Amino acid sequence: MIPLAVPNLAGREAEYLQECITSTFVSTVGPFVGRFEEMVAEASGAKYAVATSAGTTALHAALVASGVRHGDLVIAPSFTFIASVAAIAHCGAQPWLFDVAADSWTLDPRLLAATLEAETERAEDGILRHRATGQRVAAILPVYTLGIPADMDPIVALAERYGLPIVSDAAAALGTSYKNRPSGALGADFTMFSFNGNKTVTAGGGGAIVTDDEAKAKLFRHLTTTARVGADYDHDMVGFNYRMTNLQAAVGCAQMENLDLFLNAKRRIAIAYRDAFADLDMVEPFPDPDYVRNGHWFAGVVLRRDFAGHLPDLRARLREAGIDARPFWKPAHLQAPYAAAPATAMAVSDDIWHRVLTLPCSTGLSTSDQAKVIEVMRNEIAKS
Ligand SMILES: *Cc1c(COP(=O)(O)O)cnc(C)c1O
Repeated sequence: MIPLAVPNLAGREAEYLQECITSTFVSTVGPFVGRFEEMVAEASGAKYAVATSAGTTALHAALVASGVRHGDLVIAPSFTFIASVAAIAHCGAQPWLFDVAADSWTLDPRLLAATLEAETERAEDGILRHRATGQRVAAILPVYTLGIPADMDPIVALAERYGLPIVSDAAAALGTSYKNRPSGALGADFTMFSFNGNKTVTAGGGGAIVTDDEAKAKLFRHLTTTARVGADYDHDMVGFNYRMTNLQAAVGCAQMENLDLFLNAKRRIAIAYRDAFADLDMVEPFPDPDYVRNGHWFAGVVLRRDFAGHLPDLRARLREAGIDARPFWKPAHLQAPYAAAPATAMAVSDDIWHRVLTLPCSTGLSTSDQAKVIEVMRNEIAKS
């Protein structure tokens, strides 16, 4: 089977893991954690990075550090991985779900501007409220879908105008850029990266937050390490045990050494699919806006509307041919726990999600394996 996306562990992962064992530093204290944080800060263009146990835990703690509380609303795109909205719910808050822009699959700044204008009001106490429910609007959580940074300049301008902090879910966007600025330096208060096993760079599992604000970095580190004060058992806040271990960071450091290699491989694979299917009118490429340097986390195709019903069948036939191909995110407004969350109209999310087919795109995918995927896809589409 040609897998969808498997880790590429051809670097110094084993050597660094052995160093952890030999030194006994296997837990959250150890030299690889600090080294990993420096590498992530550098690659993201931000001053500070704090590593965590997962991307989801990083989002949760960043939302708490941004002041999100029980009963609040946090603006988020509906077309995202479930972890983005789960992190909001972990705060006791609720997502306010927004549709995405068709040309980027990220939070649409025009929709954001119009909806904030029409559906919020500044109460006498200075709090921004969602008019229909009376809930406080507490933050904006843009998602850098597939490694495509959201259109951050207008989003940051709106956040400033409405006094809202931004926690960006850049899970798969390490090493990407927007208008030539790196993904960790786009004006968000906190930017999260994930190092889960299927991301371009993995630590086995893990996450990180980057920020340019020293106080925010300190608060985040404090919150994620049980909010301990001093050397004894004093704790001044409700903290979390969300720190990354040295074992995870050892793998992460070895992976970061190959970040450019991995990003180039992802780009090469995505472009090869795009070019190979350019003449087929049954499929369209994923978005690739010209103002971003895209991370191409996943590659694949979007089936034409009148052909979308063939997706399960096409997928099954690819599997029979030894090719793993999968659907992509089902939007949050269609998921049971978030079905009652306030939401905009979802013309784009409803239109795209069931037409997406992801194709094998591991950074170690060989040219011959990709040629096989392309050949089988072309044959199967021709038969349909
Ligand atoms: C992977 C991913 C996450 C979750 O990260 P974990 O490290 O798996 O917790 C969150 N949001 C998006 C968009 C992701 O792709």
